[in-house]
Amino acid sequence: MHSECSQYSREVVVQVGIIGAGPAGLLLGAALARRGHAVVAVDPDPGPDTGGRWARRGVMQFHHPHGVRQQMGEALRAELPEAWDACLAAGAEPLAFVLDDGTRLPAGMRVRRETFERALRSVAAREPGLTLRRGHVDRVGVEDGRARGLVVDGEHLPTDLVVDASGRNGRVTRDLGPAPVAGGDTGIAYVSRQYRLHDGAEPGPMSNPLAWEARLDGYQVIVFRHERGIFSVLLVRPAGALHDLRHEAAFTAACRAVPGLCDWTDPDRSAPITPVLPGGRLYNHYRAQPDVGGLVLLGDAVCTTTPMFGRGLATTAMQVRALLDRVDAGDAASFGAWCDAAMLPWVHDHTRSDDHWRRVWSGGDVDLTRRIPSDLILAAAAADPRIAPALGPYLAMLAGPKSLDPVEPLARAVYQGGWRSPLADGPGRDELAEVVRAAVAA
Ligand SMILES: Cc1cc2nc3c(=O)[nH]c(=O)nc-3n(C[C@H](O)[C@H](O)[C@H](O)COP(=O)(O)OP(=O)(O)OC[C@H]3O[C@@H](n4cnc5c(N)ncnc54)[C@H](O)[C@@H]3O)c2cc1C
Repeated sequence: MHSECSQYSREVVVQVGIIGAGPAGLLLGAALARRGHAVVAVDPDPGPDTGGRWARRGVMQFHHPHGVRQQMGEALRAELPEAWDACLAAGAEPLAFVLDDGTRLPAGMRVRRETFERALRSVAAREPGLTLRRGHVDRVGVEDGRARGLVVDGEHLPTDLVVDASGRNGRVTRDLGPAPVAGGDTGIAYVSRQYRLHDGAEPGPMSNPLAWEARLDGYQVIVFRHERGIFSVLLVRPAGALHDLRHEAAFTAACRAVPGLCDWTDPDRSAPITPVLPGGRLYNHYRAQPDVGGLVLLGDAVCTTTPMFGRGLATTAMQVRALLDRVDAGDAASFGAWCDAAMLPWVHDHTRSDDHWRRVWSGGDVDLTRRIPSDLILAAAAADPRIAPALGPYLAMLAGPKSLDPVEPLARAVYQGGWRSPLADGPGRDELAEVVRAAVAA
């Protein structure tokens, strides 16, 4: 990164303008305010309405299931402990993975994205030094290669530092920096719905503390547990198939048809609390920091990754902390190099995995001419236990995808030998399409 923001330090009060008050903008904004900076975060979103509802129209994934990894919890505890407490008070449950050797790894928390963001927003909104301003940033004012302020609904707001935290669809700085360098269409689309367990009802099957996951022939299902008996059912479909799952009757019929999902959504056990939530196309992308002084990209504006691995809030939290460390040390200029080293490998990792599943969902097989995707390396541990010790740090995002390189040849040998991860019981995509067709026609 080339932004000339190394002048910012604890002692200097500067006007920081943040584009977007999502998790990235709120967390960074409140943390900078606590360091004595004067911060304005601009967002068209009004926050929850007086009835308590929060539509959050600019963030399509807001009501879709999120797994919240421990990196976000750690960032809250370090920078805004009241927000962590507010999450817990709202019912969030902290979790740990217990590995075969007994090692406990923090695994994040069971909580809805909405509940987490309400907690974060309520604390950030009370932070002296941080102003949440309702508005749309039209553009960043740049003079002599340096960001000088924001144009908010036609009005100029002078700033010393601009942070673009406008998310995956933010456009406002697109023409100021290099085009995205990695990623592309993931080939998958989401359709989900939230349910609540009846009082006293036992949860359905679980694969790990956060979720139950099953890969079937041509699609995938995941149940995410949230707070207070709430859970989300997610059907991950190829972007070109199973469109009609967006209809309530079709979604319900699909839940009945898939073993495991059928248990979770049994009307004796739970009831839906939202309509079916369709999602748009999903992309992996990475944007290097622009060569504009005083302008920093953050959160999803830097990178987005295939969502079902649940890494977006973690990469956001990691970025916020890396940027704050650099601001504290007067070395914000090294943030771009940190992003290139620490964020870009995750985007490549997801792209490799998406390429694989797109191929398999079109009738293909593992491509043994390339590096084996990380999720396939993990799966191969079922066939070669020597792979297992490498998994924990990668799964917890304590080590990047490169940490799996030493066991990649073991996984490759597993696949060369013909082993394939078994599919879960249940209808294949064509059979599910029949179920969906029949439900829509009925
Ligand atoms: C379907 C889906 C599922 C996901 N699941 C997970 C998961 O399980 N776990 C996980 O960790 N992550 C998940 N993610 C990723 C996660 O949602 C993002 O990483 C997270 O939202 C990033 O936060 P952000 O603040 O960078 O951006 P956002 O949350 O998108 O916030 C950006 C904000 O900027 C505002 N904005 C945009 N343009 C302007 C403008 N011009 N002026 C003013 N404001 C503007 C928007 O209104 C918005 O409020 C998922 C993503 C998707 C798409």
